[in-house]
Amino acid sequence: MWNPDEETLPTPDGGVSPGDASALPSEPSSAASGPASDDPQRILAEVFGYPSFRGAQRAIIDCVIGGDDALVLMPTGGGKSLCYQIPALARPGCGVVVSPLIALMQDQVAALRQSGVRAAALNSAQPAADIRATERALAAGELDLVYIAPERLVLPRTLELLEHCVIALFAIDEAHCVSQWGHDFRPEYIQLSVLAERFPNVPRLALTATADGPTRREIVSRLGLSGARQFISRFDRPNIRYRIAQSDAGGGSARNRLLRFIQDEHPGEAGIVYCLSRKRVDAIADWLSSQGLVALPYHAGLASAERERNQTRFLKEEGVVMVATIAFGMGIDKPNVRFVAHLNLPKSVEAYYQETGRGGRDGLPADAWMLYGLQDVITLRQMLEQSTADDGHKRVERHKLEAMLGLCELTTCRRQALLAYFDDELPDPCGNCDTCLDPPATWDATVPAQKALSCVYRTGERFGVNHLVDVLRGRDNERIRGFGHHQLSTFGIGADIETNEWRGIFRQLIARGLLRVDVEGYGGLKLDASSRPLLRGEATVHLRREAKPVRPARRPSSHTRIAAEDFDIADQALWEALRACRRRLADAQGVPPYVIFHDATLSEMVQLAPTTLEQMAAVSGVGVAKLERYGDEFLAVIRLQLDI
Ligand code: ADP
Ligand code: ZN
Repeated sequence: MWNPDEETLPTPDGGVSPGDASALPSEPSSAASGPASDDPQRILAEVFGYPSFRGAQRAIIDCVIGGDDALVLMPTGGGKSLCYQIPALARPGCGVVVSPLIALMQDQVAALRQSGVRAAALNSAQPAADIRATERALAAGELDLVYIAPERLVLPRTLELLEHCVIALFAIDEAHCVSQWGHDFRPEYIQLSVLAERFPNVPRLALTATADGPTRREIVSRLGLSGARQFISRFDRPNIRYRIAQSDAGGGSARNRLLRFIQDEHPGEAGIVYCLSRKRVDAIADWLSSQGLVALPYHAGLASAERERNQTRFLKEEGVVMVATIAFGMGIDKPNVRFVAHLNLPKSVEAYYQETGRGGRDGLPADAWMLYGLQDVITLRQMLEQSTADDGHKRVERHKLEAMLGLCELTTCRRQALLAYFDDELPDPCGNCDTCLDPPATWDATVPAQKALSCVYRTGERFGVNHLVDVLRGRDNERIRGFGHHQLSTFGIGADIETNEWRGIFRQLIARGLLRVDVEGYGGLKLDASSRPLLRGEATVHLRREAKPVRPARRPSSHTRIAAEDFDIADQALWEALRACRRRLADAQGVPPYVIFHDATLSEMVQLAPTTLEQMAAVSGVGVAKLERYGDEFLAVIRLQLDI
């Protein structure tokens, strides 16, 4: 059970010694009425400083406190952590959290300790002495929560230790890692089935932000959760604005457009830029740095020390842009990531949803911004076909890539399509995606599409887009002559359409499956059976008109958006002073600033301007332990700034 004073350990039997009360913080008075509580509402207020539960949190918490198993599907930022942290505090014994990313456990543990929760981590990154100390504390019933890496949890030694402890619950975070079809598959997760066998009486809770139907079923069967209650939340992240643009459509190089996007819309703010290859990650990070941004690379080719250093800077400093491959991000719970940019197409809608979901976890506006082009489609198809996976697996991957392309080429609301993919329904267009804000024009592209298809056919279904466009536009060069393509009936029939437009047409035809990329060879295009009706004039095709990208209206940067619109100059100064105070406290302890207080909490301090500890306690995110630790310091900053 939760003991609000982390320094005072309970007696070995897990109970709380009577002496504890004396060590309680004297403010606010509510905490003095009892040393521990198993009432979820009270834990929420006193430990985490929040006034109310969100969405299904309360129902999930009650289910687990009652001893039942649960499967929780909630979007990133939805508030999954409280769903196991509060039952772990309310139930007798220690909550065991299985988490795949050891690098991030430390921050979670640090954040919990700030709130007075007795938390620890067990993973291979720790010195043996620390591991032994944590194991001893666990055995002695001195922990509320322990985070364990899956490979360590399934060691016979750990399982035996746990069998001798009172376990409040098992929480299996990122539960989709158990799925062999998924993109985050972790073989160790399969072995977690042992928990159901060895601890039949301990409630188990599987949590994930990614789960289409098949993945969900796999989680249930592999983790033995057929009796679990399922809590499936809305997948919508209304604060994220989705935008997908074509890099072939003109408007400057991808890197220039990225730079402009960051400079215009997110100056000085934290964000992630995803690229497909390590080389591109390095190049883009260098380029952004040379343009005066703080941009760091992250990919599996870097030495682990450098990766860790960069990740730490991203978490602890403000305004760092992380340029990364998909190796970066799972479990990153930095709340104030203001944008996630993709310079390449993700492999699936799940990956896109999850990667973009790392933006705006604090609920404040965030951008999901993507540029993709023809080459992405070709590269991804090649990677997929050349992989060593078996046919069944490839078929699934192909299907997923197609769904992703479909999302890109949409002319209707992207959020509706995204949610529909997760079997979630949004009745009306969202009004916060590019197709809603700036509806794309479509045009009847039947004739150019027929020309393109017949050019593919006449050249023998073995040439790539560049060559095909040259033939269509009637370019007279050596290569064309070498193949005798200047004599074809399709030579020069598309001179009226510019090269970039042709590339857009080909991209859309490939995206719609009317053309296939020959993956054995060098990316030559082939006709698909579905293109026959179009060629025979029995079908028409409407494509997106590729408008030259216009600069979106500039949005104010987020910290001015955080508070009321009329965040005046005095507020601005107070906001900066509070951030400086947070920085100082975070640096002194070597933790990320948000572990002290989130932006949303500081913003509320600006708005409420509390001048007493009591008023401070009413700010969302200020719990008993943090009030005790930091209340006076932040109050001093407020008084100084407001001159009172
Ligand atoms: P998830 O693990 O689902 O991605 P988190 O558990 O990290 O999300 O929660 C996201 C953010 O929302 C965190 O900053 C957390 O403190 C905050 N949060 C969660 N539940 C509540 C609540 N009931 N009231 C206020 N803030 C909350
Ligand atoms: Zn929309």
